[in-house]
Amino acid sequence: MSKRDYYEVLGVSRDVEQKDLKKAYRKLAMKYHPDRNPDDKDADAKFKEATEAYEVLGDEQKRAAYDQYGHAGVDGQAGGFGGGGGANFSDIFGDVFGDIFGGGGGRGGSRGGPQRGSDLRYTLELSLEEAVRGVEKKIRIPTLVSCETCDGSGAKPGTTPKTCTTCHGQGQIRMQQGFFSVQQTCPSCRGQGTIIEDPCNSCHGRGVKEETKTLSVKIPAGVDTGDRIRLAGEGEAGSMGGPAGDLYVQVSVREHNLFHRDGRNLYCDVPISIVDAALGGELEVPTLDGRVKLKIPAETQSGKLFRLRGKGVTPVRGGPAGDLLCRVQVETPVNLTSEQKELLMQFQASLTGEKHSPQKKSWFEGVKKFFEDM
Ligand SMILES: [Zn+2]
Ligand SMILES: [Zn+2]
Repeated sequence: MSKRDYYEVLGVSRDVEQKDLKKAYRKLAMKYHPDRNPDDKDADAKFKEATEAYEVLGDEQKRAAYDQYGHAGVDGQAGGFGGGGGANFSDIFGDVFGDIFGGGGGRGGSRGGPQRGSDLRYTLELSLEEAVRGVEKKIRIPTLVSCETCDGSGAKPGTTPKTCTTCHGQGQIRMQQGFFSVQQTCPSCRGQGTIIEDPCNSCHGRGVKEETKTLSVKIPAGVDTGDRIRLAGEGEAGSMGGPAGDLYVQVSVREHNLFHRDGRNLYCDVPISIVDAALGGELEVPTLDGRVKLKIPAETQSGKLFRLRGKGVTPVRGGPAGDLLCRVQVETPVNLTSEQKELLMQFQASLTGEKHSPQKKSWFEGVKKFFEDM
């Protein structure tokens, strides 16, 4: 498959300035970010495509090469997301997503020395009301914490881990295989670079212990399914004195029995009688802040949406509150007495011509035209 033009991918002109280029990429990245589109292959592909384009165009040198030679000038240079090019991604994601969304930390440290603990993810189920208004939740998470007895070293108090003699503390060894020199994780210390001769009794030399901890999480008002809140340093403890990882609380909002949420707007189905629909009337409809009156004009058709401004959700990333959209559903009366049926038949007989059924008329005209065109 041939690649799309990078300028086209980002939707910018060829003389775009870096500032606007960054803006264009940021917009696409926010829209198609995998965290916001879980399991969406299409979004994932778009995100990667935009990222690749920005990796090239965001770097003056690569951009010049691309301008002159096209894809051939830069192929193989744009690595995956976060490649070491000139384009500064942490800058972009840092200021866009901030603490909600997190930066997703990589593991610091390498073989041997202190290791940063793993990031943890916790899925927090919220009701729609909690998500809209914000809430403080206590969560219990299993986690590895640094062992108090040995201060995380894994060695019995009073002793210290010894530098591994096999790898001299490197954690890796080189083996000669024919002409090749192969690097391998040191089998003696399993890459740690140190050997614990006298393991701590409390953690059996691991330096960490499993514990359940209770955390209080402040959920800001307006969050939605897929939003993440980062609690820095609340992830797994690091080993060998390394820093703890982060905890990502992933929000999942339960389906509500009255309201359906789509971004900042809420939707709600409201049944109305055939009489209210024909003559107009006043309905009481629910909102998240209580009941409100909704005037229905005469001759309202089933499926019509009524907008209650500002009765939706104020998004967590700012901006005005959305609306509540009430979709009226005209109900067919049931359990009619013979008297009521009689009245309906009289009513039916009183209808003359097509003027009482605007949709039926245009529908039949559409059908007629469809067969004429065939
Ligand atoms: Zn210990
Ligand atoms: Zn070793």
